Amino acid sequence: MAQETIPPELIGSPAGELLAAIGGIHDRIEAAQSAFRAKAAESGAALGCPEGCGSCCENFVPDVLPVEALAAAAFILGHRPDLAGRAAQSQGPTCPFYDADRPEAHCSIYPGRPLVCRLFGFAAVLGKDGEPSFALCRHMPSPVGNGERAWSDEALRGLFGAVPPVMAAFGAELLGLEPDAAGERRPLPEALPAAIARLGLALRYASLGRGDDGDEPEPNAPSPRAA
Ligand code: SF4
Ligand code: SF4
Repeated sequence: MAQETIPPELIGSPAGELLAAIGGIHDRIEAAQSAFRAKAAESGAALGCPEGCGSCCENFVPDVLPVEALAAAAFILGHRPDLAGRAAQSQGPTCPFYDADRPEAHCSIYPGRPLVCRLFGFAAVLGKDGEPSFALCRHMPSPVGNGERAWSDEALRGLFGAVPPVMAAFGAELLGLEPDAAGERRPLPEALPAAIARLGLALRYASLGRGDDGDEPEPNAPSPRAA
């Protein structure tokens, strides 16, 4: 989530800081993926998804941490409030934000999508030996004439001249944002209502802090740190 998608009222607040931190992770993933793909293209082994493909969102619902749900909620409330009820109507095995009718942009919450959605297709995994390896998504064409679809660390450096971002490293960074919530990973549609409520509370505190409506927070009201 880019800085500009953080509600301006929350900038500098605990919720705003959390959104900025997850935005920083998103930016670094994007930069690492772009660098890897640029290197691969330079090396003559360009990688890419077939045009219009969105198969990774079909029969899949991402599990998210609360902070990821918060980022999705911030995008939805700020840019696509019409989607706020979509999670509640969610049924079946496919993510409720997948739009099969828009092949140019299947994900309706793209700027606020979770980590797994960002990393899928262009991320390395760590083996038992601690070395990264990378395998193509089964829908992605092989970029090499011999049809190879998976590479070790050494082979990656030889063929592509780079290694894609390591999924576990970004997962650990994400967990570090709210370590106490590590056990609260849930499917996005289940996590989203609480995240929307959490964001609403943070916005309410932000407006009270500015005195927009002349109200003061109740003495025993939950602290904005909870948001
Ligand atoms: S990652 Fe795989 S399934 Fe997803 S859009 Fe790319 S090719 Fe298709
Ligand atoms: S959030 Fe977006 S990218 Fe992730 S599964 Fe849903 S539609 Fe696909």
